[in-house]
Amino acid sequence: MQPHELELISLTKRYGKALAVDAIDYRFGAGVYACLLGPSGCGKSSTLRMIAGHESVSEGSIVLDGRDVSRLPPARRGTAMMFQSYALFPHLSVRDNVAFSLRMKGVDKAERNACAMEMLELVDMKDHADRRPAQLSGGQQQRVALARALITRPQVLLLDEPLSALDPFLRIRMRAELKRLQRELGITFIHVTHGQDEALALADEIIVMNAGRIEQAGPALEVWSRPATGFVARFIGGHNVLDAPGGIVAVRADAIRLAAPGAAAFTGHVTGVEYQGAHVALTAQADGRSPRFCPRLPSSMPPSRRARRWG
Ligand code: ADP
Ligand code: MG
Repeated sequence: MQPHELELISLTKRYGKALAVDAIDYRFGAGVYACLLGPSGCGKSSTLRMIAGHESVSEGSIVLDGRDVSRLPPARRGTAMMFQSYALFPHLSVRDNVAFSLRMKGVDKAERNACAMEMLELVDMKDHADRRPAQLSGGQQQRVALARALITRPQVLLLDEPLSALDPFLRIRMRAELKRLQRELGITFIHVTHGQDEALALADEIIVMNAGRIEQAGPALEVWSRPATGFVARFIGGHNVLDAPGGIVAVRADAIRLAAPGAAAFTGHVTGVEYQGAHVALTAQADGRSPRFCPRLPSSMPPSRRARRWG
């Protein structure tokens, strides 16, 4: 095992009789940005909380840097978690919120304040150190929560839907910010999301989960361009998933072109046109077949012309 690698071995979570995480195995390389991606209820948060130590492991183990940390308390694992709701203490200043875990460890005031200011500088919040959380915007509160998680110098930072409470504009900005921080710190980030765009934008590795199991895991580009199952192709989006004899075929929407009827592999009728900014999503019903084709076309081409060309 390489230094700082995190390995999940047959990791299982049961809530009573319900199986939330079903014996998953995975090895996170050191210093990667990994996204756990999947629909609501597939076991992402349970997996993350078990890694953090905020949820007990039912079966299996979690090994970090060669140590089995499965039964250690959260503060002794080398992980830190940033929660979905930032859970800042409302009565404490930003500085004291960030310094809180050091205070619990008995670090003296001058040292913990210096550490907190260093972390606040990292997330560009030094000027707001004396404010209370209520005096900050959502994006600023999130930076403080990040600083508070990072002050423990974790080897692995765990983030559960960290961007979901932000408006779309801020979400894209914070996304870039997270990526920058991860590169700068060189530690492993494990980021839970149900948004495929978010995972594709951020992740070196994407782990697609479905019903408590890992459906596919690998480099983001590979998951996107070679979905291993129909579920992954549908969930990751941008694919036309077709039932073909002997299995399922996924064709990337951006690989489909419109052609004159004689030159086309399929003919059909356009049933919907949706502008999506830089491109147009076109829905068509293939003649004599059930699948719907959704090619992506540059939006500079008028849809009426495309519809005619489709034949
Ligand atoms: P996700 O984060 O992917 O939405 P979760 O890990 O939160 O999924 O949940 C996985 C499954 O476990 C769901 O069916 C959920 O209802 C169930 N679950 C989660 N937490 C608890 C809990 N504390 N008690 C009982 N069931 C839970
Ligand atoms: Mg969740």
